[in-house]
Amino acid sequence: MRLKHIKLAGFKSFVDPTKVPFEQQMTAVVGPNGCGKSNIIDAVRWVLGESSAKNLRGDAMTDVIFNGAASRKPVGQASVELVFEDVAGHLQDSLAGKVAERNEISIRRVVTRDATNTYFLNGAKCRRKDITDIFLGTGLGPRSYAIIEQGMISRLIESKPQELRIFIEEAAGISKYKERRRDTENR
Ligand code: ATP
Ligand code: MG
Repeated sequence: MRLKHIKLAGFKSFVDPTKVPFEQQMTAVVGPNGCGKSNIIDAVRWVLGESSAKNLRGDAMTDVIFNGAASRKPVGQASVELVFEDVAGHLQDSLAGKVAERNEISIRRVVTRDATNTYFLNGAKCRRKDITDIFLGTGLGPRSYAIIEQGMISRLIESKPQELRIFIEEAAGISKYKERRRDTENR
């Protein structure tokens, strides 16, 4: 499974619609301080369902919406879309037939100033849970190990056994079954 591209509009400093392609092998994002490199990573985490403003380096969840600049007015909503390809083998189970014909999936999240969040899977409205369920056990949740940020390695080394277990369970593919069990028990 590969992240093919990300589209941002009204998200943090990306006010105009911007498409960031990720080519085969490796992509590096370079640029001067404050140009928006980390905002791209925040966008990936956000669309995957991140619900903590602090983890997105803000105070409120609506802080991700472009807030204006010297020459631009603030906008009313933020939108981020991720497109993954080669998803069939990896997500067969969780997608249950929802894979698009071209073996791609698109997930999108939109937030408006009144803090209303809307999620889309292949263009159709869905719940946040539909998105988080898809990526459980793939290593690509909003807080999982696919995104390795500054300080994470030392945090991992110094983490308590219970915290370490969460990562190991995700890597072993157990976390999705635990989540389903929790769901069933709560019904
Ligand atoms: P560094 O090299 O210092 O890590 P960076 O390229 O990672 O920099 P980011 O942290 O991604 O930079 O971007 C910070 C910029 O994004 C700042 O200029 C900040 O004003 C802008 N920014 C963040 N949130 C918003 C928002 N809601 N509206 C407008 N601009 C925003
Ligand atoms: Mg940065």
